[in-house]
Amino acid sequence: MRLLPKNTGIGWLPYAWLAFLGFFIFGMFIPPVTGIKIFLNLAALAIFVVTFFRCYWIDHGKQLALPISIIVAVAVSASVINPGASVLFHYASFFAGRLGNTKHSVITIVAILIIIIVCWYFGGHSLQYLFTAGLVSIALGIMGIQIYRSDMIQRQLNQSEAERKELAVIAERERIARDLHDIVGHALTVVSLKSQVAHKMVGSDPDQARNELDEISTIASDALSEVRKTINDYRQSGIQRAIDDAEQALKAANIKAKFREIDIPEDLASDHEQTLSMVLKETVTNVIRHSGATTCEIALHNNQEQTIMTVNDNGDGFKSNDGNGLKGIRERINSVNGSLTINNENGTKIKVCIPTKTAYE
Ligand code: ADP
Ligand code: CA
Repeated sequence: MRLLPKNTGIGWLPYAWLAFLGFFIFGMFIPPVTGIKIFLNLAALAIFVVTFFRCYWIDHGKQLALPISIIVAVAVSASVINPGASVLFHYASFFAGRLGNTKHSVITIVAILIIIIVCWYFGGHSLQYLFTAGLVSIALGIMGIQIYRSDMIQRQLNQSEAERKELAVIAERERIARDLHDIVGHALTVVSLKSQVAHKMVGSDPDQARNELDEISTIASDALSEVRKTINDYRQSGIQRAIDDAEQALKAANIKAKFREIDIPEDLASDHEQTLSMVLKETVTNVIRHSGATTCEIALHNNQEQTIMTVNDNGDGFKSNDGNGLKGIRERINSVNGSLTINNENGTKIKVCIPTKTAYE
C-alpha cells in the first residue's frame, strides 16, 4: 500500500509538510489533559492524515471539495479542545488552490477564512489563533493556486513536446521510405531490365551484352554511393535541424524566437557542427526551463576562421553555478578548441566561438 502516488515529482515534500502537525500535538497537551481529550485528538489526527494523503491521489479538480470539507470539519471540531488544530486550516487552504478553477479556489479560501473567524470568535481563542490560522491560510491558498497553475503549464509543455516528437518521427519515417524508393527502387528496376537484355544477347551479341553489364555495374555502384550519402545525412543531426528544433521548442514554451543572422559556413567541420547543435539544444532548453524570458535571440555567423553562435534571452539572468548541462557543453567546446562566454546583463547572453575547420584540416 502506498501513501503517495508514483512519479508525481513532489518527492518527500508532503511528509515534510506534516511537520506542522507539531502545533496540533503540542496543543493536545495543554492542561487540563484528560484521557478522553487525548483520544478525541488522536481520532481527529487520524482522520486528517488519511484525508491529507487522499488529496494527493486526487491531485486536482472538483473532487478535492470533499476531502477539503472533511479537513475543515476536523479543524473546526478539534479546535474546541485543541487550539493547535488551527494548523489544519492551512492544509485545507493549500488544497483549495488545486480545485482546478481559480474562482472556485478563491471562494473556498475566503469561506475557510470566514470559518476561521467564526471558530476564533465562538471558541474564545487568542488573537494569535486568528492571525496564524488566517494569514498562513491566505498565504498557502495563494501558493496552492500558483503551484497548481505552473504544474498545469508544465504538463501542457510536456504534452506538446511529446506530440511534436511523435510527428517528427512520422515525418522522418516517411522521408526514409521515400528515399529508399527513389534510390534503391529505381536502381534495381534498371538493373533488372538491363540484366534481362544482357542475358538475351550473351550468345548473339557478346559485345552489346558486355556493354549492358558495364552499365549495370555503374548503376549499382552509383546507387551504393547514393545510399551511403543518404545514410550519412540521416546520421548527422545538422545545425539547421537543431535551429528548427529550437524554434519549435521556444514556440511551444511561448517564448518569441528571433533569428538575427543565420549563416552556416559551408566548410564547417561535421564534429564542430554537432558540437554547435548540442550547445544550441542545451542553451535553448535552459532558456525555456530557467530564464523566465519572453524572447530569445539566436544568431550564427562566421568570420574567416571561426563560427560564432549567440543565444541571448531577456530573462532573469544566472543565479547559480554550472549544472551538468553547462559542464557537458563546456567540455565539448573545449574539445574542439572553442570558447564559451556567459554574460549576465539584461538576461543571459551566451556566446560560443568554434574554429570552422578542424585543426588537422
Ligand atoms: P540544469 O539545467 O540541469 O539545472 P545547467 O548546467 O544546464 O543545469 O544550468 C545550471 C543552472 O544555471 C540552472 O539550474 C539555472 O539556474 C541556471 N541557468 C542556466 N541557463 C539559464 C538562463 N538562460 N537563464 C537563467 N538561468 C539559467
Ligand atoms: Ca540544462
